[in-house]
Amino acid sequence: MNGEARRYIILFGAQGSGKGTQARLLQDHFGIPQVATGDLFRYNLKEETELGRLAKAYMERGELVPDEVTNAMVQDRLSRTDAQGGAILDGYPRNLNQARALDDMLAEWGARVTQAIYIEVSEAELLRRLTGRRVCRECQATYHVVFNPPREEGVCDRCGGPLYQRDDDKDEVAIRRRLEIYMQETLPVIEYYRRRGVLTTIDGEAPIDDVNRAIVAAIVDRQGP
Ligand code: ADP
Ligand code: ADP
Ligand code: ZN
Repeated sequence: MNGEARRYIILFGAQGSGKGTQARLLQDHFGIPQVATGDLFRYNLKEETELGRLAKAYMERGELVPDEVTNAMVQDRLSRTDAQGGAILDGYPRNLNQARALDDMLAEWGARVTQAIYIEVSEAELLRRLTGRRVCRECQATYHVVFNPPREEGVCDRCGGPLYQRDDDKDEVAIRRRLEIYMQETLPVIEYYRRRGVLTTIDGEAPIDDVNRAIVAAIVDRQGP
């Protein structure tokens, strides 16, 4: 596939804005995989890989894992066969150094970031969402006890796996700290893509399906169906 036909879509938005929820819907719609750095790190932690051991302490403190480690993990993931048509990036890049590394990586493959989507949500709504979030232990699908409950309580609709609450979603002080770090580190990255003319801002407070329609429309507008 040539570089132009590939889609590399970045989803930006604070924790709880709905990136993971939307990335899964987009993955089904466009047939390219969701690449979520947080999910990849959690997977490595669970499997106790070398990478997981490296990332553990940073993740527990709610800090960013060092860029070299994160960039190498993303490069490896984007090189796999299922990502040859592109990917939906969720949680990466999170600082300017990672954004430049991504640019270099894609340029080597004759590709580029085709679209950046900023999902905007107020802080009060983010807190409501994060405290009610539940995640599938098996496939990482996300639910909300009130806004997006599974058909059967505690059980994943997609794969039947058990749902759990992430430790870092249990504590409101920790949530506020992650939101602060996000704003500090990631807002400059959003500006970087805005200046490049590939950014679309979406109202993330609408219902899940409406947000999805708005994102799909923005992507199709720029790059076709
Ligand atoms: P959050 O809800 O805090 O954004 P994520 O699931 O996106 O959670 O990420 C969980 C943890 O994984 C982060 O707190 C951080 O330690 C690490 N992480 C995820 N993405 C990145 C990234 N792009 N760069 C560095 N560390 C990351
Ligand atoms: P992120 O990946 O940006 O941290 P998630 O996709 O995990 O966010 O969503 C955070 C929580 O909010 C989840 O519990 C999810 O079910 C819920 N949620 C996502 N989008 C919406 C929406 N548009 N309206 C209400 N709740 C939502
Ligand atoms: Zn599942």
